Amino acid sequence: MVFNSSIHYLNGDLYIDAISVDEVANQVGTPTYVYSLKRVLENYNRLKTAFAQLDTHIHYSAKANSNLAILKSLSEAGAGVDTVSMGEIYRAIQACVDPQHIVFAGVGKTRQEIDYAIQQDIGWFNVENVLELDYIQASAKAQNVEAVNVALRLNPQVTANTHPYISTGHGGAKFGLTAEVIEGILEKQAKYPNIKFAGIHLHIGSQLGDKDATIQAVEKAVALIQPYPQIRTINMGGGIPVPYHFDEETPSIESFAQSLVPLLKDYAVLLEPGRSIVADAGILITEVQYVKQQAGQTFYITDGSMAELIRPSLYQAHHEIVPVKKSDGDLTVNIVGPVCETADVLAKDRVLPEMNVGDKVVVMTAGAYGMVMASNYNARLRPAEVVVSADGESWSVARKRETLEDLLRHEMH
Ligand SMILES: *Cc1c(COP(=O)(O)O)cnc(C)c1O
Repeated sequence: MVFNSSIHYLNGDLYIDAISVDEVANQVGTPTYVYSLKRVLENYNRLKTAFAQLDTHIHYSAKANSNLAILKSLSEAGAGVDTVSMGEIYRAIQACVDPQHIVFAGVGKTRQEIDYAIQQDIGWFNVENVLELDYIQASAKAQNVEAVNVALRLNPQVTANTHPYISTGHGGAKFGLTAEVIEGILEKQAKYPNIKFAGIHLHIGSQLGDKDATIQAVEKAVALIQPYPQIRTINMGGGIPVPYHFDEETPSIESFAQSLVPLLKDYAVLLEPGRSIVADAGILITEVQYVKQQAGQTFYITDGSMAELIRPSLYQAHHEIVPVKKSDGDLTVNIVGPVCETADVLAKDRVLPEMNVGDKVVVMTAGAYGMVMASNYNARLRPAEVVVSADGESWSVARKRETLEDLLRHEMH
């Protein structure tokens, strides 16, 4: 059985490229994230090809997964990085990303973060507040930087067809600026002599269910910047959807790109995909600690929990669960973690083989918004991250499992 070009069964054992998942688990322990760099690069190249008709540059959205190995390999393939904090800018620079290929977005950038980003000479600010422009102007002037590239983020007041927690482009959201405010800013550009208003930015949400809202938003953006010929760049944000169910169809990026070509052909286009590059390149390996029968249900209690992967608890997100070794028997089970929260359920009512203590199960499509949202809740140690090399033949630990000492590192004791 094949899940995607990198993740498949071979003689009943789960593999990620040429690497046995069981072998990684035996050597590194569980819970552990494993990422296929091959699949990451394939997803990146597929996007690049889909948008090849436009003058496109891809900025990978680091918030989906900011492991240095992933940032490095995407940067070597030509991607820039979209960041939302000083920490992400720092990570991108540590991964040798050219600062000119770093975009800094976010609704609440602090003055310290703005100073840092200008000092690092990053390529773009996506701006979401009028006051933020004053800070950028003051910081650029103080640091003798002649022109900081700004893309104003339009809140296009469209409602994306997605989960309410990841929808950002509707009128009531905290994100972006209204068209009226953007017009007001562009009329008063002289107030900001050290800022170059060169772009417009959009990001209406994540896991977008159809292309209609995006097209509407792009149309609004194009109409808005028409009178300002210096605005040559449209940053489309991210949001390209990923299937989380085995039988799910998501709109193809090729058709999505095709419908945008006529609208965007006269502009430089920036894309900020996160999920669509890393989600299906990653898995989370866990081990069954207990099998419990209660209230007519069967629970597989694993060493993976909401502390390692919060998406099911936070968004009621669906992740497929598969055994590392195929075996017989069908049982409807709940896969839960050990955290003291009723919400600590990785998956409900799934059909899995009958499993025993010590068997391993994998959470699929866990490469995006997984490890980056992991916490030390319940004083749990954050898991190890393993990467499989771009040729698919070897693997290495990209981030060690935390230790008990790590838990106390910043405490005065
Ligand atoms: C989160 C985010 C992205 C990435 O979204 P995906 O759905 O992961 O592609 C891109 N741009 C901005 C501004 C974001 O906040």
